[in-house]
Amino acid sequence: MLIVMKFGGTSVGSAERIQAAAQLAIEGADQGHRVVVITSAMSGVTNGLIEAAQGASRGHWDGSIRQDLFNRHAAVADAIAGGDRGRRAAIVEELERRLDRFEKLCFGLSMVHELTPRLLDAISATGEMLAAPLVAAAIQARGRASGFIDATDLIVTTDQFGGAEPLMDLTARKAKARLAPMLDQHAIPVVTGFIGATEDGVLTTLGRGGSDYSASIVGAAVDADEVWIWTDVDGVMTANPSEVPDARTLSDISYSEASELAYYGAKVLHYKTILPAFRKKIPLRILNSFNPTQPGTRVTVEGDVSTPGVKAVTSIRGVSLIAISGTGMQGIPGIVAKAFQVVAEQQANVLMISQASSENNICFVISAADAPRVVKALHAALDVELVRGHIDEISDQPVAVVAAIGDLMRGTPGIAATVFGALGAEGINVIAISQGSSERNISLVVAESDATSAVRALHHAFHLERVAEIAKADIA
Ligand code: ADP
Ligand code: ASP
Ligand code: MG
Repeated sequence: MLIVMKFGGTSVGSAERIQAAAQLAIEGADQGHRVVVITSAMSGVTNGLIEAAQGASRGHWDGSIRQDLFNRHAAVADAIAGGDRGRRAAIVEELERRLDRFEKLCFGLSMVHELTPRLLDAISATGEMLAAPLVAAAIQARGRASGFIDATDLIVTTDQFGGAEPLMDLTARKAKARLAPMLDQHAIPVVTGFIGATEDGVLTTLGRGGSDYSASIVGAAVDADEVWIWTDVDGVMTANPSEVPDARTLSDISYSEASELAYYGAKVLHYKTILPAFRKKIPLRILNSFNPTQPGTRVTVEGDVSTPGVKAVTSIRGVSLIAISGTGMQGIPGIVAKAFQVVAEQQANVLMISQASSENNICFVISAADAPRVVKALHAALDVELVRGHIDEISDQPVAVVAAIGDLMRGTPGIAATVFGALGAEGINVIAISQGSSERNISLVVAESDATSAVRALHHAFHLERVAEIAKADIA
């Protein structure tokens, strides 16, 4: 099989973790698979780079972050090289080259004081660019041929800096041409996650958490048999385990469930990860690099058809509910169209929409970061309607969205009743609700302070800790 294995930030977060990741890739190769590795930055590095860029754009640049980055990565080089000074020198030289580039970018930024999305991408890519040479060196040190590749040479994207989209035909051509010769020689290529480049070669990023997406893009580009996402939990779980301690791993989910889960806040997968794999029907596995003997989660077309109803509960924080309301909105055409035109112009992503049938109120949820801009633009665009009194108010409220997800919710009666019963029993007020016609998802808007209790209440009401236990018993 050809397997693309992606290692997340905690899975490459230290010398020990990088060596464990190298070992997992080698074990795959030893079993006769061809393996391509995609690596994230070491945990916390991307955040530090973004802070450094923001600081530099305000004129603060003292070079101490370069030293910190060097120390952290050079410590890994020391561990990998053991006593081999030549090996260490080669790795460190590469690290220095990459840190020089980073320093020059930040220094320039501290002069011009203008942090463009393009420059932020160039700087925030440094984490993956430092990690890939280390992972490749760790594989080589264990006796397997390897080499690192910057994904700027593989993934061709649009120029939407900070959230670029792959151009799949061009990517497939490049990725095959670059990876096939290495794979033919039984080498394990190590590719930087998170980044790509435009057709002109300008570096882009795929968005925060985008290394999962890189894995799926590369998997689809080279027609991989499977894509494995190595992370720090046992797979996709019935809820975020840090929010719901008795959350359980789901052994099988469908592409559509994985996609809904990721879109509605399950950070374990970047929300765009599913599509490239789904288009080519490439199964995904989500596995724990800290606990590699666990079977993890498999994502396939069918998923698990034996579990009816709700399979998982997710939540998204840091979002705002924008409500446009007024008793005079009834029968006035075009308000909805104008509102969404504004949202599109502001490039804000709408997470859910709800409109009461009385037409007195339409509301939608967007990222809180976009809310002030969108509200201002809505006031401008709906000025006439506000003056005429068709609209009374455009409001903006920080909220959380809680979603109950499962393919087989469709046709299972009583789910909404259970949702409202559970939340009512906890005294949680539901501000708005939306159910897609696919019936795979019921999303609820609640106050941010209610989100954790709402997730726990729903998890408990649908007995999700038990469902997974039954699934586990089946496997055993
Ligand atoms: P990586 O660095 O490997 O990409 P992430 O931190 O991006 O890892 O994603 C893994 C984390 O996602 C887990 O540690 C967990 O806290 C969080 N998470 C949120 N929802 C879920 C869920 N439903 N199942 C599993 N993990 C989840
Ligand atoms: N390093 C990037 C980030 O922290 C991408 C990733 O880890 O998936 O957002
Ligand atoms: Mg991640």
